[in-house]
Amino acid sequence: MGNTGESGIIPLHGPDVYRQRPPHAPQPWEKTDRAQAALEGATGPEPPAPPLCPNCGLVGDRCVTYYGWHVLLEPDLLVPAHRVPAWHRWYVDSDGTAWNSRADEPAPGAMCRVPHRITCPVLRLEEPGPLPPPLPHAG
Ligand SMILES: [Zn+2]
Repeated sequence: MGNTGESGIIPLHGPDVYRQRPPHAPQPWEKTDRAQAALEGATGPEPPAPPLCPNCGLVGDRCVTYYGWHVLLEPDLLVPAHRVPAWHRWYVDSDGTAWNSRADEPAPGAMCRVPHRITCPVLRLEEPGPLPPPLPHAG
């Protein structure tokens, strides 16, 4: 009686191993949050990185947003909201969470924060363009 030594057992793959989401896979909502962060300028730096502007190195006032991204606000600067361009008006709630009022018109007399990137001495991407020419008046 010879034993060939070959095993007829075919190893089975564990059924669940390949179905689990890898631990650091993006969650379904992350893409939306990233788009919102980019739109509003909540582009970090993210902790544990220091709250420094990556362009000029100045320290900003880093606040977390309601969607978990961080925005670098200009420290100790409150300005009349109507003087800040839409999409750059930030408000910080009492718990320290910052939110962007987007294109909403500010309430009369409202004060808001501004992101560092529009005051950054190095970054010029947000430089406002010239005002549009006045509309011609008939008569
Ligand atoms: Zn800067």
